[in-house]
Amino acid sequence: MKVFAADIGGTNIKFGISDEMGNFEEFHETDSESDKGGPFILKKLETIISEYPNIDVICISTAGQVDSEEGYIIYANDNIPNYTGTKIKQKLEERFQVPVMVENDVNAATLGEHYFGAGKKYSNLIFLTYGTGIGGGIVINSGLYKGLNGVAGEFGHMVTHPGGRSCNCGHAGCYERYASTTALVKEAIKVNSEYKNGRILFEKMAHDIELQRVFDNWTEEVAIGISNLIHIFNPAAVIVGGGIMEQNLSVIKVSEKVQDYIMDSFSDVKILKSSLGNKAGLYGAVSLQMK
Ligand SMILES: [Zn+2]
Repeated sequence: MKVFAADIGGTNIKFGISDEMGNFEEFHETDSESDKGGPFILKKLETIISEYPNIDVICISTAGQVDSEEGYIIYANDNIPNYTGTKIKQKLEERFQVPVMVENDVNAATLGEHYFGAGKKYSNLIFLTYGTGIGGGIVINSGLYKGLNGVAGEFGHMVTHPGGRSCNCGHAGCYERYASTTALVKEAIKVNSEYKNGRILFEKMAHDIELQRVFDNWTEEVAIGISNLIHIFNPAAVIVGGGIMEQNLSVIKVSEKVQDYIMDSFSDVKILKSSLGNKAGLYGAVSLQMK
């Protein structure tokens, strides 16, 4: 079986051709030009797909809240203007006459890690991705838990600091205001204005005690959120993704602190680094046809 898989984000579209087991024979990445809006992105996707005449199924991971039954975008923010309401499944099935499956990108990344990545061995797991914000997904008994509206796993908006920093969700004290990469960099810049991104932080870490303190505080914030989730879900594994978690130091520190916060009966949990990185969503897209 020939699977066309794509992962649509605000910055780029990743796509490729795979067999039904996630063995990619080709992989590409192109600028999504998201400022041109949802209709433009759909047209661009159609043009790309039309270059592959013999595909059997189309699997799409995309930014935005997705109704995966109907395959349309319930809501997308201004990163992709006019994307809300886009009927991806209907449009692509009409045009290409093959089954089309659509899922939200973080849910897809969760499935990617579960079927093909760090979570392969585990039927119960939590996935979190740390970046500008914090997103995530939940796998229970080998299936994605989606909740009433398909938007479960908004871990970034758990309140860890009541009355704390205001958040773009309209509330205050949210986890991502303290534990995202953005939050880490904001604190690091106060130490030294050159500390503008994760890469520089890890270069300078060994020689800057103040920066080590900031990093230590940040891992504490990360660990608090993860510990709460472990107490709720008792997962076999927590998989952490996002550029900052590619550093072993981040995962080791967070793991240590999580162990300090959780009850002994939960301590078998493994904190694991994402193994698919920024391709997790694309792999997750392929998994949509496996059911
Ligand atoms: Zn929030």
